[in-house]
Amino acid sequence: MTGPAALAALALALQLPGAIVVRGAGRPVEVPIVLMDGAPAVRADEAIPALGGRVSRVAEGRWTLALPGATLDIRDGLPFAGAAGATLPISASPRLVAGVLVLPLQLVTELLPRTATGLTWDPARAELRAGAGTVFSPASNTVGPGAGAREPVRKPASARPSRPATPRDRRVVVVDAGHGGPDNGMHGPINGRFTIYEKDITLAVAEKLATSLRARGVRVVMTRSTDTLIALSDRGRIANREHGDLFLSVHVNAANMGWTNPGGARGFETYFLAEAKTEDARRVERMENEAIRFETTVDAGKHDALAFVINDMAQNEHLRESSELAAIVQQSLARMHPGPSRGVKQAGFRVLVTAYMPAVLIEIGFGTNPAEAHWMNDDRRQQEIAGAVADAAMQYLDRYERRVGAQQP
Ligand SMILES: [Zn+2]
Repeated sequence: MTGPAALAALALALQLPGAIVVRGAGRPVEVPIVLMDGAPAVRADEAIPALGGRVSRVAEGRWTLALPGATLDIRDGLPFAGAAGATLPISASPRLVAGVLVLPLQLVTELLPRTATGLTWDPARAELRAGAGTVFSPASNTVGPGAGAREPVRKPASARPSRPATPRDRRVVVVDAGHGGPDNGMHGPINGRFTIYEKDITLAVAEKLATSLRARGVRVVMTRSTDTLIALSDRGRIANREHGDLFLSVHVNAANMGWTNPGGARGFETYFLAEAKTEDARRVERMENEAIRFETTVDAGKHDALAFVINDMAQNEHLRESSELAAIVQQSLARMHPGPSRGVKQAGFRVLVTAYMPAVLIEIGFGTNPAEAHWMNDDRRQQEIAGAVADAAMQYLDRYERRVGAQQP
């Protein structure tokens, strides 16, 4: 299978047959997606002018991107943008590649709509446009040298795609028990007198989590409630069909047998979807994506690089929210978990790729560690884990709804 490393090696040489459509000043423009270190990106000289903006090099390795209502300062190799005194994180670093400034796609599809005036990103159509619902804003037909200084278009309240403008009376949380059926997931512990299978632990915790959330007035959708195999891509599809507000995937970690003391590894970690940053994150990514080999009907189209890139773009909409949700889950687990917090991490989990909502994958502990395996196999402890995750979900939903509420005119 095409791994991220292989994609990275191709870098800009491979121009994927994918593009985003920009409907700005003038005719709609297709901006091709390129790969930079395996992640989707666009050329600044193609994307920014298409938006009616201007790219200026202000010094060696420094540029400004001037757009209606916003000016972003960016630097070669720095994953941050400066805008009106604020420093905004970017999913990867903008870089000068063979004399061309290349921008991570997330900068264009997520950061710009948040900072510039009147820009909306429609992930379903991979379209970036000025003014929601209108193909051209009245002021966008300006021609001549002043075309870059398009009149600001007020962003309507509905500018956030795939989100209701008002908080819903009933929240929907999708609970995903990892693995199932022929896919046991990990088993452990190392040198234990008993054996646990990940698929059983995740289902037991997921069921308790569902009960706990329902008791808090939440509608819960479980991707599986029996010992059965659900394709990774279908898990996300179930979540989308049910219009989930968030997606929680429960898993059990396994130590790498190559570690000095694999049985000693303990603790919990929460992932959100992004490029794997560390070797350890890549280990967990490989392990959790492995489930795909149990899927008998492999839809090649779903698993190719382009589909991944396109899905990734849609998911970028929720990148910040997913990382915030992950942080809240970690904090909540830290209050009850006997093991160390291994922190919030990022990796490219297929199960998260297809869920177009804030989504996290929780490794509740190491099944390879005898004490932790025993702990997570206990009914009462499972209840506590479920309670901690449910608390985090509620805290996140409350925060989110307050934020959305505050944005209302
Ligand atoms: Zn797993």
